[in-house]
Amino acid sequence: MNISEPIGDEAAETGAVNSVSVLFPLPLPKAYDYICTGGETGGEAPLVGSFVLAPFGPREVVGVVWPSGGDPIEPEKLKPLVRVIDAPPLAGELIDFIAWASAYTMFPLGSILRMVMRVADAFEGPRMQTAFVGGGEAPARLTPQRKAVLDIACETPMTAAELSAAAGVSDGVVRGLADAGALTRVDVDPDPPFDPPDLHRSGHDLSDDQQFAADEIKTIIASGGHKAILIDGVTGSGKTEVYFEAAAEALRRDDNAQVLILLPEIALTLPFLTRVEERFGAAPAPWHSELTAAQRRRTWRRVAEGQARLVVGARSALFLPFANLKLIIVDEEHDNAYKQEDGVIYHARDLSVARGARAGFPVILASATPSLESVVNVDEGRYDAVGLPSRFAEAAMPEISLIDMREDAPEAGRWLSPRLVSAINDNISAHEQSLLFLNRRGYAPMTICRRCGHKMTAPGSDTMLVEHRFENRLVCHHTGFSMPKPPACPECNAVDALTPCGPGVERVAEEAKERWPAANIAVLSSDTVTGPRAMREVLDAMRDGAIDILIATQVAAKGHHFPNLTLVGVVDADLGLAGGDLRAGERTYQLLSQVTGRAGRAEKPGRALLQTYQPQAAVLKALATGDRDAFLAAEAEGRRSLGYPPYGRLASVTLRSRDEAALEKSARAMRAAAPLADDVEILGPARTPIYRLRGVARQRMLVKAGRNIHLQAYLSDWLERVKKTSVVRISVDINPYNF
Ligand code: ADP
Repeated sequence: MNISEPIGDEAAETGAVNSVSVLFPLPLPKAYDYICTGGETGGEAPLVGSFVLAPFGPREVVGVVWPSGGDPIEPEKLKPLVRVIDAPPLAGELIDFIAWASAYTMFPLGSILRMVMRVADAFEGPRMQTAFVGGGEAPARLTPQRKAVLDIACETPMTAAELSAAAGVSDGVVRGLADAGALTRVDVDPDPPFDPPDLHRSGHDLSDDQQFAADEIKTIIASGGHKAILIDGVTGSGKTEVYFEAAAEALRRDDNAQVLILLPEIALTLPFLTRVEERFGAAPAPWHSELTAAQRRRTWRRVAEGQARLVVGARSALFLPFANLKLIIVDEEHDNAYKQEDGVIYHARDLSVARGARAGFPVILASATPSLESVVNVDEGRYDAVGLPSRFAEAAMPEISLIDMREDAPEAGRWLSPRLVSAINDNISAHEQSLLFLNRRGYAPMTICRRCGHKMTAPGSDTMLVEHRFENRLVCHHTGFSMPKPPACPECNAVDALTPCGPGVERVAEEAKERWPAANIAVLSSDTVTGPRAMREVLDAMRDGAIDILIATQVAAKGHHFPNLTLVGVVDADLGLAGGDLRAGERTYQLLSQVTGRAGRAEKPGRALLQTYQPQAAVLKALATGDRDAFLAAEAEGRRSLGYPPYGRLASVTLRSRDEAALEKSARAMRAAAPLADDVEILGPARTPIYRLRGVARQRMLVKAGRNIHLQAYLSDWLERVKKTSVVRISVDINPYNF
């Protein structure tokens, strides 16, 4: 154990008494005070940011020494700390960020700290571990199991667990070989340091546009201080190469600097990590949901020590305990995956910019379809922008056309229009690849009884059950509930009357297999690929030309580079436009630009065909004409006239309860308690679009306010006037995305 001695009685006898405040990673709004009697810290209180173990209620809990405490209490009532943990203290910048993020998101301080302390035991446990290296003399008795281990063992030390897993044998075989002298035991660090990035290594020779953009960014970085910079360039224009230069520059300027590259989880693929490794001559520290516990621990600890200098991660990497963070790059900055909706609700892009602004370091945002927020920030001079107007190496942008489904309708029960079918025929003859995009998992989004009209929903929820035909199950995509598809309608008992309505990717695949029986057809959705590794198999098959037609949901939309893909067919371009969401148009534009941008990324030109029933919709016209600026201007005008973000402030207040009567009553009472204020408008309460989920019903109010209103202050004031009960839960989402 690498933990300092308990803070002993000896120090208490010397009379050195200090009090310290400790914040725990629990949903608590403030820190608690303790006495620290000296001990290992030489009579001084541990530094702010230090990890300490302290009694809390009936338990001992690891917390962090915090700059300010809770309610003052008499010194003699304070309890002593148990011990100080031997780990680098959190940086002052991070402590400031935690406090700010709590005030901004309106989640308790301790809940934000909990996101930072995900792997806080990284500094406990053994610092050395036994591993084995090969090269010894083979033993006389060589069983097949022993041989399997010896074939794998090499100069790189591997643990017994790693070796035995790789060889498919038990741990005992490995230890037996070591006892026989065929393997040598060595002590290794269980969290080996990351190789440092090679900052003198150069990347690709940049094009003139790229060089210009990179120079501009480097100048900004060299001038020090905070600046948010938007790299705005079409897909394939080489933005990644440009921000690699920025990362190298930030790392070169300060020997201890750390750089974070954020990506949406599904864009965080192995090919991307490999690309970073090729550029910097060393693998970055990764942070994503597929890491093992050991890999998480290694990244967390090495980031805390400042040893990991280049980190590539999904949104929660923003809460890693960086010792000296100097640059954040948010790739695909428009992506909604940056908005975390569970637990603490936050937007990783917005928090990144705020963090850089407070700490005085630059933040780079990159996108081919920047969010309206970022575009407005550039227009109003708050952000800098650099543009990459064309694709790298003359690759042309795909030609996008709309198919008016009212005129070019598929036969009944089919989903591909004659024009799209003929385009795929041409592509197959030309030995080029096609992508059919439909952002709907499963076979059919709805299952209805033909006899009585009953819709299959998840128990206790107002969500549709989606048929997944490969598994013959009905699945709820919101709650994860699933059941075998019943033979009869549960309402009227009619046998074989449950009918799938509408298409999902599996149903389009069924049609494609009928139409092109000789073609290699694959389905790519979050049901078929569950992480970077599984994704790689499909990506490799695509790259090797083993797939003729890929039928995919949005997991295929991000960042991939398929040189032989020349046709993208969007099965239902109208899908995202339904519903009253503020960002529906913008999101559809972004998603469809991304998807169509997969076509023609290399020498062969690409084209995209969008099937739609509303070819007059502004979004679709903008996509077909490539007039992004006109579209954004119209979107901006719409939001400005309604006072919506980024021209006004917005929050949603959601009440949840299993008791619908109590919920309605509370929602009305809460509405009535709202303080009157100029330039604040409250809409609702109203039922959420999905009213019941897992038996919990939800009512919501939207709070709209002018830009000069301190929305959090208004909301705190309001919440203080509301009686809290355990029957009805209240949560606040600042700048909500789904409403
Ligand atoms: P973006 O991030 O804008 O979508 P990328 O940086 O991924 O674009 O570049 C698209 C493709 O072009 C990638 O395969 C990349 O390796 C290649 N590329 C970009 N810039 C260069 C360059 N200067 N030299 C060689 N290849 C480049």
